[in-house]
Amino acid sequence: MSEVLNIEELFGSKVFTRATMRERLPKSVYKEVVKIMDQGGELSLETADVVAKAMKDWAIENGATHYTHWFQPLTGITAEKHDSFVSHPDENGKMLMEFSGKELIKGEPDASSFPSGGLRATFEARGYTAWDITSPAFLKEDATGVILCIPTAFCSYKGEALDKKTPLLRSMEAISEQALRIVRLFGNTGATKVVASVGPEQEYFLVDRDKYLKREDLIFAGRTLFGAPAPKGQELEDHYFGTIRERIGAYMKDLNIELWKLGVTAKTQHNEVAPAQHELAPIYETANIAVDHNQLVMETMKKVAGRHGLTCLLHEKPFAGVNGSGKHNNWSLGTDNGVNLLDPGDTPNENIQFLLVLACIIKAVDVHADLLRQSASDVGNDHRLGANEAPPAIISIFLGEQLEDVVKQLVETGEAAHVLQGGKLATGVSTLPDFEKDATDRNRTSPFAFTGNKFEFRMVGSADSIGSPNTTLNAIVAEAFCEAADILEKADDFDVAVHDLIKEYLTEHQRIIFNGNGYSDEWVAEAERRGLPNIRSMIEAVETLTTDKAVKLFEKFGIFTKAELESREEVLYEIYAKTINIEALTMVDMASKEIIPAVIKYSKSLADSVLAVKEAGADAEVQTELLKEVSAKLTEMKTALAKLEEVEAKAAAMENAKDQAFYYKDVVKAAMDALRKPADELEMIVDKKVWPFPTYADLMFEV
Ligand code: ADP
Ligand code: MG
Repeated sequence: MSEVLNIEELFGSKVFTRATMRERLPKSVYKEVVKIMDQGGELSLETADVVAKAMKDWAIENGATHYTHWFQPLTGITAEKHDSFVSHPDENGKMLMEFSGKELIKGEPDASSFPSGGLRATFEARGYTAWDITSPAFLKEDATGVILCIPTAFCSYKGEALDKKTPLLRSMEAISEQALRIVRLFGNTGATKVVASVGPEQEYFLVDRDKYLKREDLIFAGRTLFGAPAPKGQELEDHYFGTIRERIGAYMKDLNIELWKLGVTAKTQHNEVAPAQHELAPIYETANIAVDHNQLVMETMKKVAGRHGLTCLLHEKPFAGVNGSGKHNNWSLGTDNGVNLLDPGDTPNENIQFLLVLACIIKAVDVHADLLRQSASDVGNDHRLGANEAPPAIISIFLGEQLEDVVKQLVETGEAAHVLQGGKLATGVSTLPDFEKDATDRNRTSPFAFTGNKFEFRMVGSADSIGSPNTTLNAIVAEAFCEAADILEKADDFDVAVHDLIKEYLTEHQRIIFNGNGYSDEWVAEAERRGLPNIRSMIEAVETLTTDKAVKLFEKFGIFTKAELESREEVLYEIYAKTINIEALTMVDMASKEIIPAVIKYSKSLADSVLAVKEAGADAEVQTELLKEVSAKLTEMKTALAKLEEVEAKAAAMENAKDQAFYYKDVVKAAMDALRKPADELEMIVDKKVWPFPTYADLMFEV
């Protein structure tokens, strides 16, 4: 029997939760803090001092020696700079551990080396972190000890956002304000805010750490840059939901425990489609906390892997030829008095508020399909989107039969008189119960699917922060709500006006609805006919950030200024160019220092064999044939290597960020492919014993 885990006790044990605050703070202070957490506002310095002291005492009792403002710069991951609680000793040399309210609410980490896209010249290096009071502080344990982590936003000296959190928080305020206008129209005066909730399903790969360490590409690029397919891939579909192997199970158990301690509601775990691929999903929560927690999930996945002699790969496409990893971003909107705006109820055709919300979302997604696609792009995701394993790069909405039918009726007749119901699903076995059938089936191929009482945005990359997609979702829907409320608040006859508006939005934007197979070529052609954007790569999506439409949207709701958007463009081009450059250099390194020398060695053994066999009086036909083949591919490799070196040098010397990024995409990547091809072919014919690093079979099947 294994030990019994007391999850209730474990859960949140490393978090400065509301319960902990209630225990440790004077009642009036606790009330003030909770009020600000729930309704916004600023903490006075006196209150902050009291909170800081309680937080410090709690942290120290739990082993902490340091604190950090934990933030999310534009690198897509998190950043921390530790300060100990050590203070200046008194005249007797005695030191008291200190942490003030000022240190809690504001930090100045310098941090001049983070990407800022020109928002800060290096001489204006000041950057500030500010406590996000709505996301709880927590303790992180690493080799340096226990660190009190305070979730913060990160801004420049002039207040411009330098991170992923600031715009997200701004977008949450925008959507709350605009959604409140909508629910008020329907008589809900009790709600004081509307919260965007997010549940991200996180996919990942696990490989053996010793094997990982033998591959430079995994170390530097997080994905394989060479590698012939293994004899078996995912075609038998035997890994998906398969029995979890012992070593992986031990990892998952450990991971869950660490996450529960951090207050992350790790809920679902299973094997995914590709060999060595897995998934973890927590229970949904408020968007900014979900974003923070997803960062913790990714970080903890990597950390715990080390303890099990494993390495966790979060890259969107670690292996060619099998599925890559994504993140399904489940998103919904709820009022603080308990109404999920995306819950259609049993009779969605009669639920006018739901229909208006749905119509607004459909409009938002159609008008800003380009921005939504941009928000889910990162360098690794270019390998997935549109590659028949993930949604295409074309944004469309899946509604399911029931809602599609309601929409159709509304568009055609202005009324939705009836609604499809699920009915019973007979199993045909007398001992099995008949199911209540859902009114709507699922569709795995849609990038933006309605799933019961939420939308599931399935395009997001596995390694990416979910900050941007949720910022964009909140922003575009806030705009649609705002435009609808502007009209409806002025309407003489609300019932008629809302009815007309729903019909108008659905009619105008129905082209974005698609319930068919999103992976098919027909859809690509059909989408083009419908005029839907098909933005094929991350860098082609970048400029959607600064179209007039985008600037107007983001500035209107105070989410991004034009300067902030331009800086993000710059950062994205840079990240792209730098990432591909690292990949190119890694390939050059592996090809010239590992693969080519190994192949040369192998050719020598073949040549020796040819001579020896001939000398012995037989003809060495097979050896000669093989030698010729190997030599020809070696020549091809050497030529491709020279070409890659040439274009990489040219790319690296370019100065305009956008031109450079496109050159990497169009020229350098082609040269990388040209080098990979002969190398992978050689891997198939060269003696496995001389191949310089673990193969796909070693990596994916022997974990
Ligand atoms: P499914 O498998 O049907 O997509 P799950 O229940 O497995 O749904 O949920 C997937 C993710 O969606 C989980 O993180 C879950 O907590 C989250 N989720 C469920 N309901 C909502 C909601 N109303 N809003 C946001 N996320 C939700
Ligand atoms: Mg799901």
